[in-house]
Amino acid sequence: MSTLVFLETSEGKIRKSSLEAVCYAHAMGGSVTAVVLGPADASEVQSIGKYGAQKVLHAADSKLEKGIAQVYASVLAQAIKDENADILILASSSLGTPVAAKVAVKTGASFAANVVELPNLSNGFVVRRSIYTGKAFAHVELKNQKKVIVIRKNAAEIKEVGGNAEIVAYSPTLNESDFNTVILSSEKATGDVLLPEAEIVVSGGRGLKGPEHWGILEELAKTLHAATGCSKPVSDMGWRPHHEHVGQTGVKVAPQLYIAIGISGAIQHLAGVNSSKCIVVINKDAEAPFFKAADYGIVGDAFDVIPKLTAAIKAAN
Ligand SMILES: Cc1cc2nc3c(=O)[nH]c(=O)nc-3n(C[C@H](O)[C@H](O)[C@H](O)COP(=O)(O)OP(=O)(O)OC[C@H]3O[C@@H](n4cnc5c(N)ncnc54)[C@H](O)[C@@H]3O)c2cc1C
Repeated sequence: MSTLVFLETSEGKIRKSSLEAVCYAHAMGGSVTAVVLGPADASEVQSIGKYGAQKVLHAADSKLEKGIAQVYASVLAQAIKDENADILILASSSLGTPVAAKVAVKTGASFAANVVELPNLSNGFVVRRSIYTGKAFAHVELKNQKKVIVIRKNAAEIKEVGGNAEIVAYSPTLNESDFNTVILSSEKATGDVLLPEAEIVVSGGRGLKGPEHWGILEELAKTLHAATGCSKPVSDMGWRPHHEHVGQTGVKVAPQLYIAIGISGAIQHLAGVNSSKCIVVINKDAEAPFFKAADYGIVGDAFDVIPKLTAAIKAAN
Protein backbone atom coordinates (compact mmCIF):
# COMPACT_ATOMS: atom_id res chain seq x y z
CA MET A 1 0.00 0.00 0.00
CA SER A 2 1.43 3.36 -1.03
CA THR A 3 -0.09 6.39 0.68
CA LEU A 4 0.24 10.08 -0.07
CA VAL A 5 -0.59 12.67 2.60
CA PHE A 6 -1.36 16.29 1.83
CA LEU A 7 0.12 18.60 4.46
CA GLU A 8 -1.50 21.98 4.96
CA THR A 9 0.74 24.84 6.08
CA SER A 10 0.02 28.09 7.85
CA GLU A 11 2.70 30.79 7.67
CA GLY A 12 5.31 28.18 6.69
CA LYS A 13 4.43 25.83 9.54
CA ILE A 14 2.81 22.42 9.11
CA ARG A 15 -0.64 22.35 10.68
CA LYS A 16 -1.12 19.98 13.57
CA SER A 17 -4.12 18.33 11.91
CA SER A 18 -1.84 17.44 8.97
CA LEU A 19 0.68 15.79 11.30
CA GLU A 20 -2.25 13.71 12.52
CA ALA A 21 -2.91 12.73 8.89
CA VAL A 22 0.73 11.54 8.56
CA CYS A 23 0.33 9.48 11.76
CA TYR A 24 -2.94 8.05 10.40
CA ALA A 25 -1.17 7.00 7.17
CA HIS A 26 1.75 5.52 9.11
CA ALA A 27 -0.63 3.53 11.34
CA MET A 28 -2.29 2.06 8.21
CA GLY A 29 1.06 0.53 7.21
CA GLY A 30 2.84 0.63 3.85
CA SER A 31 4.89 3.50 2.45
CA VAL A 32 4.02 7.10 3.34
CA THR A 33 4.90 10.13 1.20
CA ALA A 34 3.94 13.61 2.38
CA VAL A 35 3.24 16.48 -0.03
CA VAL A 36 3.88 20.10 0.98
CA LEU A 37 2.70 22.81 -1.41
CA GLY A 38 4.16 26.32 -1.36
CA PRO A 39 7.02 27.81 0.66
CA ALA A 40 7.53 26.19 4.08
CA ASP A 41 10.21 26.29 6.79
CA ALA A 42 12.95 23.78 5.92
CA SER A 43 13.08 22.52 9.52
CA GLU A 44 9.31 21.92 9.46
CA VAL A 45 9.56 19.93 6.22
CA GLN A 46 12.48 17.94 7.62
CA SER A 47 10.57 17.12 10.82
CA ILE A 48 7.81 15.23 8.97
CA GLY A 49 9.94 12.08 8.98
CA LYS A 50 9.53 11.88 12.75
CA TYR A 51 5.83 11.20 12.30
CA GLY A 52 6.28 8.28 9.92
CA ALA A 53 6.71 9.67 6.37
CA GLN A 54 9.56 8.12 4.42
CA LYS A 55 9.54 10.79 1.74
CA VAL A 56 8.37 14.40 1.40
CA LEU A 57 7.58 15.98 -1.96
CA HIS A 58 8.03 19.72 -1.49
CA ALA A 59 6.73 21.94 -4.29
CA ALA A 60 8.09 25.27 -3.04
CA ASP A 61 6.85 27.37 -6.00
CA SER A 62 5.53 30.66 -4.59
CA LYS A 63 2.53 30.33 -6.95
CA LEU A 64 1.41 27.57 -4.56
CA GLU A 65 1.57 29.82 -1.51
CA LYS A 66 -2.13 30.57 -1.53
CA GLY A 67 -4.39 27.57 -1.12
CA ILE A 68 -6.42 27.63 -4.33
CA ALA A 69 -8.42 24.40 -4.26
CA GLN A 70 -8.39 23.84 -8.03
CA VAL A 71 -4.59 24.27 -8.23
CA TYR A 72 -3.91 22.02 -5.24
CA ALA A 73 -6.27 19.34 -6.61
CA SER A 74 -4.43 19.28 -9.96
CA VAL A 75 -1.03 19.05 -8.26
CA LEU A 76 -2.15 16.26 -5.91
CA ALA A 77 -3.70 14.30 -8.79
CA GLN A 78 -0.32 14.58 -10.56
CA ALA A 79 1.53 13.48 -7.42
CA ILE A 80 -0.74 10.41 -7.11
CA LYS A 81 0.22 9.49 -10.68
CA ASP A 82 3.93 10.28 -10.29
CA GLU A 83 4.19 8.28 -7.06
CA ASN A 84 1.79 5.56 -8.21
CA ALA A 85 0.00 6.06 -4.89
CA ASP A 86 -3.10 4.05 -3.91
CA ILE A 87 -4.44 6.35 -1.21
CA LEU A 88 -4.47 10.08 -0.53
CA ILE A 89 -5.11 11.22 3.06
CA LEU A 90 -6.03 14.80 3.97
CA ALA A 91 -7.05 16.42 7.25
CA SER A 92 -10.51 17.92 7.28
CA SER A 93 -10.45 21.70 6.80
CA SER A 94 -12.05 24.39 4.70
CA LEU A 95 -9.25 23.74 2.19
CA GLY A 96 -8.56 20.01 2.62
CA THR A 97 -12.13 18.77 2.15
CA PRO A 98 -12.92 20.52 -1.17
CA VAL A 99 -9.45 19.70 -2.50
CA ALA A 100 -10.02 16.03 -1.64
CA ALA A 101 -13.37 15.93 -3.45
CA LYS A 102 -11.82 17.49 -6.56
CA VAL A 103 -8.90 15.02 -6.53
CA ALA A 104 -11.36 12.12 -6.24
CA VAL A 105 -13.23 13.38 -9.31
CA LYS A 106 -10.01 13.90 -11.28
CA THR A 107 -8.62 10.44 -10.46
CA GLY A 108 -11.89 8.45 -10.32
CA ALA A 109 -10.98 7.39 -6.77
CA SER A 110 -13.38 6.13 -4.08
CA PHE A 111 -14.00 8.99 -1.64
CA ALA A 112 -14.86 9.30 2.05
CA ALA A 113 -14.85 12.43 4.22
CA ASN A 114 -15.38 12.83 7.97
CA VAL A 115 -13.55 9.58 8.66
CA VAL A 116 -13.10 9.10 12.40
CA GLU A 117 -10.79 6.12 12.81
CA LEU A 118 -8.36 3.81 11.01
CA PRO A 119 -9.87 1.68 8.23
CA ASN A 120 -10.93 -1.88 8.89
CA LEU A 121 -8.98 -4.00 6.39
CA SER A 122 -10.27 -7.40 7.54
CA ASN A 123 -12.85 -7.59 4.76
CA GLY A 124 -12.17 -5.04 2.04
CA PHE A 125 -11.36 -1.43 2.95
CA VAL A 126 -14.04 -0.11 5.29
CA VAL A 127 -13.99 3.32 6.93
CA ARG A 128 -16.19 4.73 9.68
CA ARG A 129 -17.62 8.14 8.85
CA SER A 130 -19.35 10.61 11.11
CA ILE A 131 -22.70 11.60 9.60
CA TYR A 132 -25.71 13.77 10.53
CA THR A 133 -23.39 16.31 12.19
CA GLY A 134 -21.89 13.69 14.47
CA LYS A 135 -25.12 12.08 15.67
CA ALA A 136 -24.56 8.82 13.75
CA PHE A 137 -21.85 6.83 11.97
CA ALA A 138 -21.78 5.08 8.60
CA HIS A 139 -19.48 2.22 7.61
CA VAL A 140 -18.44 2.69 4.00
CA GLU A 141 -16.49 0.31 1.79
CA LEU A 142 -14.07 2.00 -0.62
CA LYS A 143 -13.84 -0.40 -3.54
CA ASN A 144 -11.68 1.42 -6.03
CA GLN A 145 -7.97 0.73 -5.80
CA LYS A 146 -7.45 4.50 -5.62
CA LYS A 147 -8.93 6.10 -2.53
CA VAL A 148 -9.19 9.63 -1.19
CA ILE A 149 -9.87 9.92 2.55
CA VAL A 150 -10.50 13.02 4.63
CA ILE A 151 -9.99 12.42 8.34
CA ARG A 152 -11.59 14.28 11.23
CA LYS A 153 -9.54 15.56 14.12
CA ASN A 154 -8.73 12.82 16.69
CA ALA A 155 -8.95 10.05 14.03
CA ALA A 156 -5.35 9.17 14.93
CA GLU A 157 -3.01 10.02 17.75
CA ILE A 158 -0.06 12.30 16.97
CA LYS A 159 2.97 10.19 17.84
CA GLU A 160 6.62 10.60 17.01
CA VAL A 161 7.83 7.31 15.61
CA GLY A 162 11.34 8.45 14.70
CA GLY A 163 12.89 8.37 11.29
CA ASN A 164 14.16 10.75 8.67
CA ALA A 165 12.26 11.53 5.51
CA GLU A 166 13.94 11.96 2.15
CA ILE A 167 13.10 15.51 0.99
CA VAL A 168 12.47 15.74 -2.75
CA ALA A 169 12.04 19.09 -4.55
CA TYR A 170 8.86 18.62 -6.56
CA SER A 171 8.07 20.63 -9.70
CA PRO A 172 4.57 19.75 -10.86
CA THR A 173 3.14 21.25 -14.03
CA LEU A 174 0.92 24.19 -13.09
CA ASN A 175 -1.99 24.84 -15.45
CA GLU A 176 -2.78 28.53 -15.89
CA SER A 177 -6.48 27.62 -16.24
CA ASP A 178 -6.48 26.38 -12.61
CA PHE A 179 -5.68 29.90 -11.41
CA ASN A 180 -9.08 31.27 -12.39
CA THR A 181 -10.04 31.72 -8.74
CA VAL A 182 -7.97 34.42 -7.09
CA ILE A 183 -7.68 34.90 -3.33
CA LEU A 184 -7.51 38.69 -3.03
CA SER A 185 -6.92 38.91 0.69
CA SER A 186 -7.43 36.91 3.83
CA GLU A 187 -8.10 38.03 7.37
CA LYS A 188 -6.33 36.27 10.17
CA ALA A 189 -8.47 35.23 13.11
CA THR A 190 -7.48 37.01 16.30
CA GLY A 191 -6.19 35.22 19.38
CA ASP A 192 -2.98 33.36 20.11
CA VAL A 193 -4.43 29.88 19.60
CA LEU A 194 -6.41 29.02 16.45
CA LEU A 195 -9.82 27.61 17.33
CA PRO A 196 -9.94 24.61 14.92
CA GLU A 197 -6.43 23.52 15.96
CA ALA A 198 -6.76 24.16 19.69
CA GLU A 199 -6.12 21.41 22.24
CA ILE A 200 -8.25 23.28 24.78
CA VAL A 201 -11.25 25.51 24.04
CA VAL A 202 -13.03 27.74 26.55
CA SER A 203 -16.41 28.74 25.15
CA GLY A 204 -19.05 31.12 26.46
CA GLY A 205 -22.75 31.49 25.84
CA ARG A 206 -25.57 33.89 26.54
CA GLY A 207 -25.21 33.04 30.23
CA LEU A 208 -22.29 35.48 30.35
CA LYS A 209 -24.85 38.27 29.92
CA GLY A 210 -22.75 40.65 27.78
CA PRO A 211 -19.43 41.30 26.02
CA GLU A 212 -18.14 43.28 29.00
CA HIS A 213 -17.94 40.03 31.01
CA TRP A 214 -15.66 38.17 28.60
CA GLY A 215 -12.51 39.22 30.48
CA ILE A 216 -12.88 36.44 33.06
CA LEU A 217 -13.36 33.84 30.32
CA GLU A 218 -10.31 35.15 28.44
CA GLU A 219 -8.25 35.03 31.62
CA LEU A 220 -9.22 31.37 32.11
CA ALA A 221 -8.38 30.64 28.45
CA LYS A 222 -5.00 32.38 28.76
CA THR A 223 -4.18 30.39 31.90
CA LEU A 224 -4.94 27.14 30.07
CA HIS A 225 -3.29 28.24 26.75
CA ALA A 226 -6.72 27.69 25.24
CA ALA A 227 -8.61 29.21 22.31
CA THR A 228 -11.87 31.04 23.01
CA GLY A 229 -15.17 30.09 21.38
CA CYS A 230 -18.81 31.05 21.79
CA SER A 231 -22.37 30.05 20.97
CA LYS A 232 -24.14 31.39 17.88
CA PRO A 233 -26.34 34.01 19.59
CA VAL A 234 -23.23 35.47 21.22
CA SER A 235 -21.59 36.10 17.84
CA ASP A 236 -24.93 37.13 16.26
CA MET A 237 -25.27 39.83 18.92
CA GLY A 238 -21.71 40.97 18.20
CA TRP A 239 -20.42 40.12 21.68
CA ARG A 240 -17.70 38.02 20.04
CA PRO A 241 -16.32 37.79 16.48
CA HIS A 242 -18.06 35.39 14.10
CA HIS A 243 -15.02 33.18 13.64
CA GLU A 244 -15.42 32.10 17.30
CA HIS A 245 -18.94 30.76 16.75
CA VAL A 246 -18.89 27.02 17.41
CA GLY A 247 -21.52 24.56 16.20
CA GLN A 248 -23.41 23.16 13.26
CA THR A 249 -23.31 26.48 11.43
CA GLY A 250 -19.95 27.58 12.83
CA VAL A 251 -16.54 26.10 13.54
CA LYS A 252 -16.40 22.41 14.41
CA VAL A 253 -13.86 21.73 17.11
CA ALA A 254 -12.41 18.50 18.49
CA PRO A 255 -10.07 19.53 21.31
CA GLN A 256 -8.79 17.38 24.15
CA LEU A 257 -10.81 19.60 26.50
CA TYR A 258 -13.90 21.73 25.76
CA ILE A 259 -15.14 23.96 28.59
CA ALA A 260 -18.65 25.30 27.95
CA ILE A 261 -19.70 28.17 30.21
CA GLY A 262 -23.24 29.54 30.27
CA ILE A 263 -24.20 27.58 27.13
CA SER A 264 -27.46 25.62 27.25
CA GLY A 265 -26.34 22.76 24.97
CA ALA A 266 -28.72 23.03 22.01
CA ILE A 267 -28.22 20.27 19.42
CA GLN A 268 -26.86 22.78 16.94
CA HIS A 269 -24.10 23.73 19.37
CA LEU A 270 -23.38 20.10 20.34
CA ALA A 271 -22.96 19.23 16.63
CA GLY A 272 -19.78 21.32 16.63
CA VAL A 273 -18.23 19.93 19.81
CA ASN A 274 -19.22 16.28 20.07
CA SER A 275 -15.83 15.00 18.87
CA SER A 276 -14.12 16.63 21.86
CA LYS A 277 -12.22 14.19 24.08
CA CYS A 278 -13.49 15.68 27.35
CA ILE A 279 -16.35 18.15 27.89
CA VAL A 280 -16.73 20.23 31.04
CA VAL A 281 -19.95 22.21 31.48
CA ILE A 282 -20.44 25.14 33.84
CA ASN A 283 -24.07 26.22 34.09
CA LYS A 284 -26.22 27.56 36.89
CA ASP A 285 -29.18 25.45 35.76
CA ALA A 286 -28.73 21.80 36.78
CA GLU A 287 -31.31 20.85 34.11
CA ALA A 288 -29.34 22.44 31.22
CA PRO A 289 -29.21 19.88 28.36
CA PHE A 290 -25.42 20.30 28.00
CA PHE A 291 -24.89 18.31 31.21
CA LYS A 292 -26.11 15.16 29.38
CA ALA A 293 -23.17 15.48 26.95
CA ALA A 294 -20.66 16.43 29.66
CA ASP A 295 -17.87 14.33 31.14
CA TYR A 296 -17.73 16.71 34.11
CA GLY A 297 -20.19 19.36 35.19
CA ILE A 298 -20.21 22.24 37.64
CA VAL A 299 -23.62 23.57 38.65
CA GLY A 300 -22.93 27.15 39.60
CA ASP A 301 -22.87 30.79 38.65
CA ALA A 302 -20.22 31.43 35.99
CA PHE A 303 -19.24 34.72 37.64
CA ASP A 304 -18.47 32.83 40.82
CA VAL A 305 -16.96 29.65 39.31
CA ILE A 306 -14.67 31.04 36.57
CA PRO A 307 -12.43 33.24 38.77
CA LYS A 308 -12.10 30.42 41.31
CA LEU A 309 -11.23 27.92 38.59
CA THR A 310 -8.64 30.29 37.07
CA ALA A 311 -7.08 30.94 40.49
CA ALA A 312 -6.93 27.20 41.25
CA ILE A 313 -5.24 26.44 37.91
CA LYS A 314 -2.72 29.26 38.45
CA ALA A 315 -2.00 27.95 41.94
CA ALA A 316 -1.48 24.42 40.60
CA ASN A 317 1.03 25.56 37.92
C1 LIG B 1 -30.55 26.38 11.91
C2 LIG B 1 -29.91 26.71 13.24
C3 LIG B 1 -28.54 26.61 13.35
C4 LIG B 1 -27.92 26.92 14.57
N1 LIG B 1 -26.57 26.79 14.67
C5 LIG B 1 -25.97 27.02 15.87
C6 LIG B 1 -24.58 26.83 16.04
O1 LIG B 1 -23.83 26.50 15.09
N2 LIG B 1 -24.05 27.08 17.26
C7 LIG B 1 -24.80 27.47 18.34
O2 LIG B 1 -24.23 27.67 19.42
N3 LIG B 1 -26.12 27.62 18.20
C8 LIG B 1 -26.72 27.43 17.00
N4 LIG B 1 -28.07 27.63 16.88
C9 LIG B 1 -28.78 28.21 18.02
C10 LIG B 1 -29.14 27.18 19.08
O3 LIG B 1 -30.35 26.53 18.74
C11 LIG B 1 -29.30 27.85 20.46
O4 LIG B 1 -30.27 28.84 20.38
C12 LIG B 1 -28.00 28.45 20.98
O5 LIG B 1 -26.95 27.52 20.93
C13 LIG B 1 -28.20 28.92 22.40
O6 LIG B 1 -27.09 29.69 22.80
P1 LIG B 1 -26.72 29.79 24.36
O7 LIG B 1 -26.63 28.43 24.92
O8 LIG B 1 -25.55 30.69 24.45
O9 LIG B 1 -27.93 30.61 24.95
P2 LIG B 1 -29.17 30.15 25.84
O10 LIG B 1 -29.94 29.08 25.20
O11 LIG B 1 -29.88 31.40 26.21
O12 LIG B 1 -28.50 29.52 27.14
C14 LIG B 1 -27.82 30.25 28.10
C15 LIG B 1 -27.41 29.28 29.19
O13 LIG B 1 -26.67 29.99 30.17
C16 LIG B 1 -27.05 29.55 31.45
N5 LIG B 1 -26.74 30.65 32.37
C17 LIG B 1 -27.40 31.83 32.51
N6 LIG B 1 -26.79 32.60 33.43
C18 LIG B 1 -25.74 31.89 33.87
C19 LIG B 1 -24.70 32.14 34.83
N7 LIG B 1 -24.65 33.30 35.52
N8 LIG B 1 -23.79 31.19 35.06
C20 LIG B 1 -23.82 30.00 34.40
N9 LIG B 1 -24.78 29.71 33.48
C21 LIG B 1 -25.70 30.64 33.22
C22 LIG B 1 -28.51 29.24 31.33
O14 LIG B 1 -28.91 28.32 32.35
C23 LIG B 1 -28.60 28.64 29.93
O15 LIG B 1 -28.42 27.25 29.97
C24 LIG B 1 -28.69 27.32 15.68
C25 LIG B 1 -30.08 27.39 15.54
C26 LIG B 1 -30.69 27.10 14.34
C27 LIG B 1 -32.19 27.18 14.24
